[in-house]
Amino acid sequence: MDEIQDEIHEECGVFGVYSSENRTVAHTVYYGLFALQHRGQESAGIAVAYADKIMYYKGMGLVPDVFSGGKLDDLPEGDIAIGHVRYSTTGASQLLNAQPVVFTGKCGKMALAHNGNLVNTARLREELIKNNAVFQTSIDSEVMAVLINSLSDGDILKGVMRACPRFEGAYALVIMTTDKLIAVRDPYGIRPLCIGTVDDDIVVASESCALDAVGANFVRDVKPGEIVVIDSEGITSHMMERIPQSRMCIFEYVYFARPDSVIDGCSVYAARAEAGRLLAEHCGVEADIVAGVPDSANVAARAYAEASGIPFAEALAKNRYVGRTFIQPDQRQRENALAVKMNALRANIRGKRLIIIDDSIVRGTTMRKIVRMLREAGAKEVHVRVCSPIIKHPCHLGIDFQTYSQLVGANRTEEQIAKLIGADSVRYLSVEHLVQSCKACNLNFCLGCFTGEYPYPPEGFETDKLRLE
Ligand code: SF4
Repeated sequence: MDEIQDEIHEECGVFGVYSSENRTVAHTVYYGLFALQHRGQESAGIAVAYADKIMYYKGMGLVPDVFSGGKLDDLPEGDIAIGHVRYSTTGASQLLNAQPVVFTGKCGKMALAHNGNLVNTARLREELIKNNAVFQTSIDSEVMAVLINSLSDGDILKGVMRACPRFEGAYALVIMTTDKLIAVRDPYGIRPLCIGTVDDDIVVASESCALDAVGANFVRDVKPGEIVVIDSEGITSHMMERIPQSRMCIFEYVYFARPDSVIDGCSVYAARAEAGRLLAEHCGVEADIVAGVPDSANVAARAYAEASGIPFAEALAKNRYVGRTFIQPDQRQRENALAVKMNALRANIRGKRLIIIDDSIVRGTTMRKIVRMLREAGAKEVHVRVCSPIIKHPCHLGIDFQTYSQLVGANRTEEQIAKLIGADSVRYLSVEHLVQSCKACNLNFCLGCFTGEYPYPPEGFETDKLRLE
C-alpha cells in the first residue's frame, strides 16, 4: 500500500440552502462545499430547484475545478439548492456515482445527497429490483432515493418517514423537491449535520465550518432520528418512530472534521487539544522535543508539549499542493511519494530525542516511513504517540478501512507495532481517555473500530459494497 492511500477517507460532505429572497443559491452551496472539501475530494455536485424544475451539474475533482469555466454561473437562480462532495475508492464508474442523485418521481423533481454508508444496501436494492425498480449506479444514495420515492404516495415527508426505518447504517441526508428542503440524520446520529441561518435563508451542512463559510449563524445540530422540513411555512421537526440512541462517530473528532467545527456541542479543536494533554499525562516519555504529523496532529502535539513541559518543534514540513488524488505511476515513484508529500526539518531534529504525535494509525505504512525519515534526518530516538486507541476493527459506516487485513493494529500490541514501524516506542490513547477528550459532546459515541461494538450488529453488515462499486 502506498503512502497517499495510507490515509483515512470520509466518504462525503453535504450542504443545502432554502432561500426566500436570495436567488444565488448555487453560489451559497458552492462556498459551503468549498468549506467541506476535506470530507471528499473526488467528485462534487450542486442541484438547484427553480420554478418546477431541478438543474444540476456534477463532475470529478475538487469543488473549484468542477465548477470552473463558468459552470457555476451556468446554474440557474433558484429558491433551493443542495450539494455534495464525495470520496470514493472506485475507478471507472466514478462520475456516475457522483451526487446529488437527481430524478423525477412521485413527488415530482427530486434530488438527494448522502453522507454515510448503509450496511443493508444490497438487500434493499434486490427487493426494489424485484418490484421493478431500475438503478443506474451501485451507490446506496440511489437506493435511498428510490425507496423514499416508492413509499411516498406523492408526499415526500411520508416517503422519508416510511423509508428511514428500512435503512440500516449511517446517513446524514439533504433532500430537495421543488418546494422543500429536508435534512435527515439517522437514529444513531452517526454522521454530523447542523442547521444555520443567514439573513432569511436557512442552511444545512455536515459541519459548522461550512455555516461560517457562508456567513450563517449556527442554530442547532439536527438530532439523531430527526427529519427537519424547511419550506414556505418555516422549519418543522419530525422524529422517526425508531427510538434514537445516539452513537456519534468519535472519529469525526479524531481526524475527519475540521478543527474549527463544533459538532453536537463539542469543539473539534478543544477535543484534539484535550486528547494531546491526556496523552502526555498517561503515555509520557522522556524526550527533547514534541512534534505533530501535519496537519491534523499539530493541535494535539502543542497540547502535549504544554502538558509535558517538553518544547514543541516542527519536525516535518508538508507540501500543501499534493492532492489526495496524487497518482504514482510506478513502484519507484510510489516509494518516493512520502518524500514528495513531506520532508523532515533536519535542523530541528538532529541529535534529538523526539516524540512524534499522530491522530491515528491505520495501515502503518506511512508512519513507518515517517519514522525512517526522522531517523535519517538525525533523530536520536523516535517515540510515536497516537491520539486515539489502536484501530482493531474495520468500519462499515462511511469510512474506508473495511477489512481487518488493512489494519496494522488488528492483531498487534503496542510493542509489536513499534517494532514493525521502527520506533523506539509506540503508545496509544485509551478508549476511556478518548471519550473523556470529547466530554463536551452531548451524544454517546460509536467506538466500533476500537472496541468491535457497533450501533448495528456486525453479522448483518454487507462488507463487499466498495468492491461492488
Ligand atoms: S466504526 Fe469507527 S470510524 Fe466507523 S463510525 Fe464507528 S467510530 Fe466512526
